[in-house]
Amino acid sequence: RRKAGAELLDGLNDQQRRAVQHAGTPLLVVAGAGSGKTRVLTRRIAYLLAERDVHPGQIMAITFTNKAAAEMRERVVELVGRRANVMWVSTFHSMCVRVLRREATTLGMKSSFSVYDADDTRRLITLVSRDLDIDPKRYTPRGLASAISNLKNELIDPESAKDKAANDFERRTAEVYVEYQRRLGLANAFDFDDLIMRTVELLQTFPAVAEYYRRRFRHVLVDEYQDTNHAQYTLVRELVGTGENGLEPGELCVVGDADQSIYAFRGATIRNIVDFESDYPQATTIMLEQNYRSTQTILSAANAVISRNPNRRDKRLWTALGDGEKIVGYVGDNDHDEAAFVAREIDSLMDGGDTGEVKYSDIAVFYRTNNQSRVFEEIFVRMGLPYRVVGGVRFYERKEVRDALAYLRVLANPDDAVSLRRILNVPKRGIGDRAEACVSAHADKQRISFNDALRDAVDDKVPMLNARSRNAIVGFVELIDDLRGLVTDGHETADILESVLERTGYRAELEASDDPQDETRVENLTELVTVAREFAHELPPEDPDGDGDGAADEGLVEPGSLAAFLERVSLVADADQIPDEDSEATGVVTLMTLHTAKGLEYPIVFCTGWEDGVFPHMRALGDPTELAEERRLAYVGITRAQQRLYLSRAIVRSAWGQPMTNPPSRFLDEIPADLVDWRRVQPERSAPSAPTTGWGRRSFGGGSGGGSSAPSFGPAKGWKDTPALSLNVGDRVTHDKYGLGTVVATDGVGPRATATIDFGTAGSIRLMLIGSVPIQKL
Ligand code: ATP
Ligand code: MG
Repeated sequence: RRKAGAELLDGLNDQQRRAVQHAGTPLLVVAGAGSGKTRVLTRRIAYLLAERDVHPGQIMAITFTNKAAAEMRERVVELVGRRANVMWVSTFHSMCVRVLRREATTLGMKSSFSVYDADDTRRLITLVSRDLDIDPKRYTPRGLASAISNLKNELIDPESAKDKAANDFERRTAEVYVEYQRRLGLANAFDFDDLIMRTVELLQTFPAVAEYYRRRFRHVLVDEYQDTNHAQYTLVRELVGTGENGLEPGELCVVGDADQSIYAFRGATIRNIVDFESDYPQATTIMLEQNYRSTQTILSAANAVISRNPNRRDKRLWTALGDGEKIVGYVGDNDHDEAAFVAREIDSLMDGGDTGEVKYSDIAVFYRTNNQSRVFEEIFVRMGLPYRVVGGVRFYERKEVRDALAYLRVLANPDDAVSLRRILNVPKRGIGDRAEACVSAHADKQRISFNDALRDAVDDKVPMLNARSRNAIVGFVELIDDLRGLVTDGHETADILESVLERTGYRAELEASDDPQDETRVENLTELVTVAREFAHELPPEDPDGDGDGAADEGLVEPGSLAAFLERVSLVADADQIPDEDSEATGVVTLMTLHTAKGLEYPIVFCTGWEDGVFPHMRALGDPTELAEERRLAYVGITRAQQRLYLSRAIVRSAWGQPMTNPPSRFLDEIPADLVDWRRVQPERSAPSAPTTGWGRRSFGGGSGGGSSAPSFGPAKGWKDTPALSLNVGDRVTHDKYGLGTVVATDGVGPRATATIDFGTAGSIRLMLIGSVPIQKL
């Protein structure tokens, strides 16, 4: 059911309302965290559709993640009805893929192109630098890839890079860039950065194409504008236009917060926000000042930290939500102790504690880098806390999954050389390195694609190739052509994938192995088939391309098709894996990096690892620019919390297998002492007689987290200090929450001893860390 315009303005303050209703000139909404920027963007779209007679096909909205895009679309559909489904709401990358599918031939590519991710890119750069005789120790593929990425983010093409190169590294980079770009073309592939750069090229080189999109998208809206880079900035400008051919520029609305810019390493620049008014002279700026997310305590902490950054426009955020609870601070002896505290605290929050109903899905744990998740996972598994880690080694990065996808990509795009070379001899079929090198050299010499060179091998036109290799190649080419027949016959992706796993012998090989890892691999492949099956049965939008005719454009991928599936998997980002809130169940605790947390909110947040060298990151310690970026990351982290915030650090943390002693994060010093309730600071080692009753409670001055000058108040009631209960199979125990249970298995010793306990219907079977859960032996 559609909402009337007046209703669309409900639940907005005056400034938000102004932003929703603003018409005619470019609009910038700048405001601190939790002030409703994203809400304004969503409502504005609904308002355009309901009150200003804008057709949904005229709207392009850009969000930072696919998940955020899906949510925004859903919200708008709730507000104004299903017709809103045809809007373009997506990330920059997805939007560009869509444009490029349609316009590929204009750029000399085919619409069946592949999208290369970081791993594909590195592979191709490795091949290129090998062919160019570049010393991989001196110039690593990773280094080259990142240098080329930076050039692309600045819209510098290979020729200009060559002209600009001022030192040896830049000259080598430019050389690789030229050849890499040529190979991408031969492979009919775009890398991530190309998606943006080449779309800009398309719009700038072909005025008719640009005009088509400008006529079509009369409204462009961008969330998280502070994290756009130069290429994305230019893309937005090109889409909106400057009023050529009598066409009014499109209406632009961007929202952002310079204090939350945390992607400088990807070329993001707050210049785009700071200079908005000079870039768009007609621009109107609206500031929002009320925060609707967090308590005053949380907000004050965030403001205190961010105000230390130089050269920023100060904004005063306030909230009507009251002071709320104090921030809880904790200092662990080591990272395991810190994790145990988090787990224990979650357990007691779930028991009701003093907060009433809490669901696991209300809770998030943040850390600076992905590798910090491991200690949390260990303890969460032990304690039976349901959780989900977002990011890290992702499903789509697993070898077997990438292999299977490489087959599919080759079927969709025969020229995809990186995928082709990946599967050429996987599983082993007698096409060795030498044979591959012969084919590759032939491709290079003839300036043809690797695929064409393989076909030359079949015709015996590749020199130096022995008969056995040639036969193997003949077999491979036939297999691929057969499988490709399934695609042209319109089989479902899941069935094609099944055939690939079957006919290549890939699955059989894994099944025959007695390596337990291979068993997991088979499961992952089964999972991939399931993903493909579900994807094909997703409901397509009523009008796939949103131009109002109910049909897909020529060149646009068929919904549910192989190409659409590959597109989906190549563009998943970490943040897209964040579990949806499930109102029925109690859900799971979400673990993620601070970067991934941007734009999200949780009632309860644990921000961990506040140590100089961890957070702020080691490489920021001597660099004011990087330090300012880390501080913005702290601001992002703190402002995700709605009701309760925990800040913790460990005195000793293992890094690269070595224990490291890190001083408290300097950001802790920046938080006013009266906001934090330190549950535990460093226990004084030389005070064995200290009282041992429960938590030490006090406000800790300056938050330096308990240096050696801190008075002692005894050890915490943690697993470290609880005498290990000795349990055997068959013992009867009681648990404060789950009641009576029977030990069915035990494992580990000392503080790491675990027991598997059957609590019957009350709590089912749970694995618990004996020292850290409230159990008694009967
Ligand atoms: P961030 O900077 O973290 O991206 P944001 O500025 O985009 O934050 P939103 O996520 O849009 O903020 O809003 C924060 C929270 O406040 C959300 O839960 C939102 O629903 C709520 N909110 C926003 N505006 C209002 C309002 N006028 N009345 C009540 N709640 C609001
Ligand atoms: Mg937002």
